[in-house]
Amino acid sequence: MKFSNILAHKSLKKQLVNSVKNNRIAHSQMFLGEKSSPKLLFALAYAQYINCQNKSSDDSCGTCQSCVKYQNLTHPDLHLIFPVLSINKIKKVTSDNFVNEWREKVLKNPYLDLDIWFDAFSRENKTGKTGYIYTQESDNLHRKLSLKNYESEFRVVLIWLPEKMQTNTSNKLLKLLEEPPIKTIFLLVSENTDLILSTILSRIQIIKTKSYKLEEIESLLRDKFPLKKMEEIKEIISLTDGNIGDSIQILQNDNFEDQNFEEYQAWMRLCYSVNIKEITKWVNERSQNGRRSQSTFLKYALKMIRNCLVFHFSETNNLFVTQKERVFLTKFHPFIHQDNIFEISEKLEECIKNIERNANSKIMYYELSLQLMKLLKVKRKFVELN
Ligand SMILES: [Zn+2]
Repeated sequence: MKFSNILAHKSLKKQLVNSVKNNRIAHSQMFLGEKSSPKLLFALAYAQYINCQNKSSDDSCGTCQSCVKYQNLTHPDLHLIFPVLSINKIKKVTSDNFVNEWREKVLKNPYLDLDIWFDAFSRENKTGKTGYIYTQESDNLHRKLSLKNYESEFRVVLIWLPEKMQTNTSNKLLKLLEEPPIKTIFLLVSENTDLILSTILSRIQIIKTKSYKLEEIESLLRDKFPLKKMEEIKEIISLTDGNIGDSIQILQNDNFEDQNFEEYQAWMRLCYSVNIKEITKWVNERSQNGRRSQSTFLKYALKMIRNCLVFHFSETNNLFVTQKERVFLTKFHPFIHQDNIFEISEKLEECIKNIERNANSKIMYYELSLQLMKLLKVKRKFVELN
């Protein structure tokens, strides 16, 4: 990652470059920012710049041996630590066991968050448990840091989401921060400092990275996905409430609209026909997906319900829907009207919130389906206007 790969944030780039030029690199720093901020990109660009063998006055070269390894996240002096799941009967639950998957995810989507990361294991993680940076991790790190650096002057310990450290891990990390091994730089990347020990926070330099504004998100995604239509990009930004990480996930999945559409269509048909047996089957399958994929599906369902209203009251030519969605909405929209749309939207919004709070998705989908069965049968009352 080069600084030039990061959109905007000129003054922060300058600040980081200057710290290297003036030989004032703090040994522990934290890049703090919300989901749609380039905090991880900055940590990676900074680490790469520090170790570049041919750096210019404002960026790393991107082609020296060190940069090439940093760009693949495979530099032997770059230690990657991130939350992991205790799955697959792995005895030592440490980042090393998941590093290939993490590298792949980050290289594809450096705006990923915890849900996107854990969704990668939704099939193995059937109970939907959440992971941590376990105590074993700090033992592992201690062992690694007792060895000499392999190739570069500075080694970098990158800790992604330190807020997920178990208490023991935090205490051991604190000891390392109190007496940092020489030529070792700790770069933490965090969304929320509330869960981090204040004694850790007091030992690190915090660098706030601002979230991108809507126009910046649009331009960033347009550059990343030049083949996508701008109206589709805007649609997805709105579907994800402006979350870049989620938008990238969806835009990378060419079948996104199709998959969600097929599932949504099947669901609405089952609800309308009150087919309890098939609904139970649908709920069982649907609830196997990861949490982020669930909330995206429900947001998609909400969008489709709102689109029904557009079909009632306004011009649909400007609406961005696929051909399949248009055919479906043409037939389906009469079932959604002023006497049920508010309640249906409300139920869906409630479920999106609950899923994000880690509710039991099986029970939730089942209840929601029962509600929809009832609400789809509400007859529209026509009011005569004089
Ligand atoms: Zn370089």
